[in-house]
Amino acid sequence: MTPPASATILKELVGFASVSANSNLDIIAYVEERLASLGIASRRLPDKMAKKASLLATIGPTDRAGIVLSAHTDVVPASEPNWSSPPFEASLRDGRLYGRGACDMKGFIAAILAQLPLLHREASETPVHLAFSYDEEVGCRGAPDLVAEVAGLPVKPAVCIVGEPTSLQIATAHKGKVAYRITVTGRTGHSALPHRAANAVTAAARIAAMLGDLADEVAISGPRDESFDPPYTTIHVGSLHGGSALNLVPDRAVLEYEIRNIPDREGGIPVLCSRIEAGIAAECQALRRSAPEADILIEEIVAYPQLATAADHPAVAAVARLAGTEARPRTVSFGTEAGLYAEAGIPTVICGPGDMTRAHKADEWIGLDELAATERMLERLAGRLRQPLATWMIS
Ligand SMILES: [Zn+2]
Repeated sequence: MTPPASATILKELVGFASVSANSNLDIIAYVEERLASLGIASRRLPDKMAKKASLLATIGPTDRAGIVLSAHTDVVPASEPNWSSPPFEASLRDGRLYGRGACDMKGFIAAILAQLPLLHREASETPVHLAFSYDEEVGCRGAPDLVAEVAGLPVKPAVCIVGEPTSLQIATAHKGKVAYRITVTGRTGHSALPHRAANAVTAAARIAAMLGDLADEVAISGPRDESFDPPYTTIHVGSLHGGSALNLVPDRAVLEYEIRNIPDREGGIPVLCSRIEAGIAAECQALRRSAPEADILIEEIVAYPQLATAADHPAVAAVARLAGTEARPRTVSFGTEAGLYAEAGIPTVICGPGDMTRAHKADEWIGLDELAATERMLERLAGRLRQPLATWMIS
């Protein structure tokens, strides 16, 4: 097939190696320029170091409720050795465009940029807000500022589409996630005299075992939601480091763990967290019996909320019509920024081109047909922008 207009744009977007650890200011400048060429104003929201930024732009009137198109500009690293072509030089083969971020999720951005002139021409009654973030891949760290800005627009948007890859199906739910780093400080000493020391590794191992037991308990007897795989909240210890030599009592250990919760309607997550905190506090007390200076520091390293948009919300059906899908809304196993928008009171769904199973690995790709279908989805959106949102959101 003839490549759609978005394929050319996507090639350029892939060329910006916007790995989360890098600055994304060059790709933001590229988007700004495309917006500015049509006279669309946009606003950067820089991070503290002014090394990265989100971008927010409104196409159309600002005095009424509109629709948000949300995407992240960062990508995961491309250090896998088995790439068939350079990951940051998009390569077109057999109707597929290969490159890091092609699927997750620069393809969605490319389709939006390809349809900018049309959206700009048509958005006389219903505005479209573009909200492009950074640092999504390292725990949705860039989005909170941007979401606050979107939710604080003169009129709060009525719907948000997060264009993460769902093969243009509608996803209305995902688990929330919170991750912590625990640093145990004990007291070192000769291993022959452990009674004069406080063993940080033993304490951290007890905490890891406590988390493992709790994970089993929650899996067996905790709340269930069969639309998820697995259908319960998970607790996972990802790393535990400590100790340097057998004849030394280790005075430091670091453990990282995460909780991925199913949508929590009964307030079970706070209860779970306070049980974990109580277990950690008990370990700290035990350490302090032999070393009063011992301590356990808990730091939150990632947190984003669950998404649980009601499947019968009018916004869900409206976006399904735009996407041209009649499939039932589903859940996704990966986390997104959608939960943050939903938490801010904006009905939010996930719907974007490509499939997440192709992302975060070598030879990530998106089909030209998928890009073309996304352009058509945005054409359908443009076709409704001369009407007030209420007329097509509910009918
Ligand atoms: Zn993504």
